[in-house]
Amino acid sequence: MTAPHPFTHPLDPPLALSRHAHDRIGDHRVDDAWLAERWADDRTRVLLLHGGQVAVTAEQVPAFVSPSRTGPGARLLLGEEGGTTYFAILLDDPPDGFELVSLRAIAAGLGDLDAGLLVHAVGMANWHHTHRHCSRCGGRLQSEVAGHVLRCADCGRTQFPRTDPAVIMLVTDDRDRCLLGHNKHSPRPRGFSTLAGFVEPGESLEHAVTREIAEEVGVRADRVTYFGSQPWPLPASLMVGFYARANTTEITVDGDEIGEARWFTRAELMAEATNGDVVLPGHVSIARRLIEDWYGGELPGTW
Ligand SMILES: [Zn+2]
Repeated sequence: MTAPHPFTHPLDPPLALSRHAHDRIGDHRVDDAWLAERWADDRTRVLLLHGGQVAVTAEQVPAFVSPSRTGPGARLLLGEEGGTTYFAILLDDPPDGFELVSLRAIAAGLGDLDAGLLVHAVGMANWHHTHRHCSRCGGRLQSEVAGHVLRCADCGRTQFPRTDPAVIMLVTDDRDRCLLGHNKHSPRPRGFSTLAGFVEPGESLEHAVTREIAEEVGVRADRVTYFGSQPWPLPASLMVGFYARANTTEITVDGDEIGEARWFTRAELMAEATNGDVVLPGHVSIARRLIEDWYGGELPGTW
C-alpha cells in the first residue's frame, strides 16, 4: 500500500466512481481554435449520449467513436488521458447501431478511465437535459465553454453545472453495532442500507448527517467523521460518506422514508445477509463500502 498522495483519494481501494480523475484541461474549454482542431482529428474519442443515457457496444461497454461518426448535438470537452482527447456529445437523435443504457446499468463493470469520463459526461448531460431555459427571464440558452456554461441569449445570464451534495452515513453505537434502515419506497422488501439525505442550504455536511439521523430514526448522534466521496450523477449528486456515533440507541422511524431500522452486530449482519433476510446495497455504492469497512470484510448478497 503506497502512501496516499495529497491530491488522490485516501481510501484504498478508492470508491468505484471516484477512483480515477482524467485531466479536465479546463483552460482549453474556451480555446475555440484548439477545440476545432481536436474535433477534426479522427483519433479524438467521443462518447455518445442521448437524453442522459449512454451508447454502449454489444459488450455493454461505453461506445467511443471518432468525431466524424457522431451526429448533431451539443459537444462537451471531457479532457485528456494518455495523449487522447475525449469529448462527449449530447445527440439530438438516438445514435444508429448502439443501445442506450443508464449509467446505473453499467456502473459496476466500468474500467477506471471510463468510470471517470462517464460520471463527468452523464452529470453534464443531465444538467443540459433539465436546464432548457434561463432561470431569470425564461429565455433561450446557448451552450458555451465546451458545454460547461449555459448562457441566456436574451438577458446574458450564465448558468453553471450544479452538483447537489448528499450525505450518506453509517451510524454505530458504543457496542459497535451498526444501524441500517429499510426505505419503505424501496422495491426490495429485504433491502437494508445506510441512512442518507440531501444537504440543505445553510447547513454543514456534519450538521446534515446528525439532522438526517435524528429525522429518519430518532437517534441522537455526533462524532461525525469523513469516509470518502464519489459522484452520483443520477441526476446530480455528490455522495459524501461519513461515520457517526450514536449517543442514544432507541429507534423511532419516521415512517415516511424509513419503514424499519435496526441495530446489527457483525454476527447478526453476516447471518442475515447469508440467509437473505437482509439484502445489502450494490458494490458501486458508498453505502456498501461503509458497511463492509465497518464489518471488516466482504458480506454476501447484493441488490
Ligand atoms: Zn435570461
